[in-house]
Amino acid sequence: MNKMTKEYLKKEFNIKEEALSLHEEALKQITPLFKEYDEIREYNQYKVLKAFQEENISDYHFTNSSGYGYGDVGRDTLDKVYARVFGAESALVRPQFVSGTHTISCVLYGILRPGDTLLAMTGAPYDTIHGIIGIGQEEQSRNEGSLKDFGISYKEIPLIVEDIDVESTLDALRKDETIKMVHLQRSKGYASRSSFTLSILEEAIRAVKKEFPDVVIFVDNCYGEFIEEKEPTEIGADIVAGSLIKNPGGGIAPTGGYVAGRADLVEMSSYRLTVPGLGGECGSTFAVMRSFFQGLFLAPMISIEAVKTAIYAAKIMELAGYSVHPVAEAKRTDIVQAITFNDEVKLIEFVKGIQYGAPIDSSASCEPWDMPGYDDKVIMAAGSFMQGASIELSCDAPIREPYTAYLQGGLTFDHGKIGVLIALSRLL
Ligand SMILES: *Cc1c(COP(=O)(O)O)cnc(C)c1O
Repeated sequence: MNKMTKEYLKKEFNIKEEALSLHEEALKQITPLFKEYDEIREYNQYKVLKAFQEENISDYHFTNSSGYGYGDVGRDTLDKVYARVFGAESALVRPQFVSGTHTISCVLYGILRPGDTLLAMTGAPYDTIHGIIGIGQEEQSRNEGSLKDFGISYKEIPLIVEDIDVESTLDALRKDETIKMVHLQRSKGYASRSSFTLSILEEAIRAVKKEFPDVVIFVDNCYGEFIEEKEPTEIGADIVAGSLIKNPGGGIAPTGGYVAGRADLVEMSSYRLTVPGLGGECGSTFAVMRSFFQGLFLAPMISIEAVKTAIYAAKIMELAGYSVHPVAEAKRTDIVQAITFNDEVKLIEFVKGIQYGAPIDSSASCEPWDMPGYDDKVIMAAGSFMQGASIELSCDAPIREPYTAYLQGGLTFDHGKIGVLIALSRLL
């Protein structure tokens, strides 16, 4: 950052001198770390390009179908592009998936049957999945229609500190023949653990598959796409799901989700999104196809911009005296950065600061609220082009001890930096 920019930030954004000196130090320390991620970005860009070329993507794939959406060639070909990128037999990419949670629910309801058991291998799943399973606070209030309600049981293997407990998982599988699916979550969500890198996931999946080849391995891939050179479907997962307003939408897709994996499992999931018999052959795409294609094409770059923002936030907040998870130097497998404040007021101030740095709704003041699907009150900064898009610079936090904020996204690293600088300045 040159002198002119610094003066500008001080004058126009009230960035404190102290924040700028922390910035200098942070940038000096993290710049060497970027090389590895630039190389991952480069590889994934070529992988995506190759998939486009193999499917001969042309202007006529930017369809704008209506009504039933039969024969939407853009939609059907994008499925094939995703399948190639994810090294999967098949994929289903649709604007009718309203969120990541909905996409995951289609996989669970689509594949599990009454009498089956779902086994969570990486501890408790992400908060919004609890209502689908029928656990937690949701149990008392709104479990109508949960998996539990349909006679699908649930078991969970707690982590050993932060590690996957493979032995207990195998034990559970040996004792219970009804376990049809094993659920793994790559990103930490609102848990205090580390996110699981693909090499850790691969080892766990391999151990399960070796003894139980027929059990379905499902990986919640939210926030993980394009952060490593491979995706979980390339290291043994049978099916993955994610959100298009996170990494793979590249900040361009306005809504939607994707499922990729074994063809029979993707088809079962499609029967849940629409109905048995119709599956993925129905569903119009209004005017989203161009943005889905373009978003995927940009996703390797945008996802790595977000990683750089996360690494920057980790380093500068650590230098400012806060505890961060993961640390800047850790190997990343997702775009999420946790920052712990141990103080409710500081947490809220930080989140508000991220909002003040946004291109959209920068004058809004965030407040904690009872967000649907979450057990605690949640505060969320999302001054984004797409409502709630967390591939854009965003920060959310459940209002509970130890008052940890989860920062993610940033369409450009430059925006990520100033967002964090504004938020940090408010704490100094
Ligand atoms: C974001 C997220 C979800 C849910 O996605 P939504 O689009 O917010 O519904 C599920 N799992 C993980 C790990 C996530 O990060």
